[in-house]
Amino acid sequence: MRRHVQTALALLAGLATVGSVGCGNDDKKRAKVAPAAGLIDGGMTKNVRNACTAAVVSTNLTATESARGAIQHFTVDSIPICGHHHRVIEDQDGLVVAELGADLRSRALMLDPESVWPTLSDAVTKIEASPFAGERLDVSTAHRCWHLATDKVLHPAWEITVIGERSGWFATVGSDQVFKFNPAAIHAAGRVATQSEGVDFQRIEVDLDTMDDSGFLQGPNFRTTVPTGRTRASATNGNFLFETTDPRFIESSLYANAELALQKFRAVDPDHVSVDCFPFEIMVSYVGQGGDVNNAFYEPALARRSGKPGISVGDGNGEILRNLGRDPDVVGHELAHHVVYRGIQNISDFESLVLHEGLSDFFVYAATGNACLGESICPQNSGACWSRGKCLRTAENSIKLTDSNAPRDFHRLSQVISGMLWDLESDIGSHTATAKIVSHALNWMLPTGTYRDFITAMMLADRDLNAGRSACAIYTEAETRGLSEEISGLDCSQFRK
Ligand SMILES: [Zn+2]
Repeated sequence: MRRHVQTALALLAGLATVGSVGCGNDDKKRAKVAPAAGLIDGGMTKNVRNACTAAVVSTNLTATESARGAIQHFTVDSIPICGHHHRVIEDQDGLVVAELGADLRSRALMLDPESVWPTLSDAVTKIEASPFAGERLDVSTAHRCWHLATDKVLHPAWEITVIGERSGWFATVGSDQVFKFNPAAIHAAGRVATQSEGVDFQRIEVDLDTMDDSGFLQGPNFRTTVPTGRTRASATNGNFLFETTDPRFIESSLYANAELALQKFRAVDPDHVSVDCFPFEIMVSYVGQGGDVNNAFYEPALARRSGKPGISVGDGNGEILRNLGRDPDVVGHELAHHVVYRGIQNISDFESLVLHEGLSDFFVYAATGNACLGESICPQNSGACWSRGKCLRTAENSIKLTDSNAPRDFHRLSQVISGMLWDLESDIGSHTATAKIVSHALNWMLPTGTYRDFITAMMLADRDLNAGRSACAIYTEAETRGLSEEISGLDCSQFRK
């Protein structure tokens, strides 16, 4: 009944938004949206190499003791709406302090009656056939949900994590189309290894007590892997003291710098780093799609065949970038993505990505005490770096979100966020104190991060940690950075205890 193929195609192409309200509404049924407790359940987990990844989905995002206001999602006919969460925070007297995400019950959502649920295997076939994938894919997680299109119409879909030869992907797939298809890797680059941090980088030797007795660079936190054909660095006495010209120096640098970054992050906040699914796998001298060596990236555990989180770092070709495996900021930045992933797990949407990059950079700046990312990775004439020959990115900037010439690339635009957090030092007292607030704010964030939710979460965190002393400073810095429209209606004085 009421199934007209033509109308379905028109709807899916998004044509029903303005022009065809009359006929569109005849066919559509108002959705009965109901709230349900908790995060959207990752549902069936398939082909996972260990139980770890399932745990990641369900245990992340637990708020701290002082966090009241449980996360909820929304369902229609007991099936969740993809990717939407909501949280209302009340004080002890039951008064609303803040709200994160949107209450979808207040929106007039319609069901697309034309579209039917694809089978999971049809959905996966559709992804495999898309020009971006083009290879056989293993399913890591999959669950049914309603995809909410921009025209407020709900379409039957699957949210799926798939793993290909080189990387993982997050996809949302309906019967007629792939709504979303994004790499599970967060790219970036920074500084590294048993090379000291800063402009005067040099070879240093650091003592680590975290390695196991395998004779390789591995332990409970990290484990290195090298490209096929290369031998892993080994030592019988626990000393991996290579000269800088030795390719094994890159491996030892990555391992040492990952451990040092972990120590620094833990010093900010003991709960800063989720150790679910450890040890991390560090891919040394990684060659990406199309032979790309000028990048580094983080992949969450659920998007990897091994069920372990991963950091891949290329060597750089010397013209676009260089020294990626040695500069401590590179692996630090990627590890920081893992920290941020504790709170923000949507790495497909633009605002979520800008926040992911900005927060990851800021955690590195706060740990190193300088606002320059990757001092040793920028060749003099490369346009890949924000400041030529100096920093990949920097928090010492005055970029505003509202600038007409604000960068469009999410990596570069993220300097608005890292710059805003860096500038909070004058109000909060130290970068470490700001980093503590940011870390705590992650406990409040919903999986999809928005600027409004982030500023709200920062003020909530400051309320928890400092009785809200800096809430208005946080609000003001956000205004200074051109976020006024996003945060309009928030009252910073409400966050004071
Ligand atoms: Zn990044």
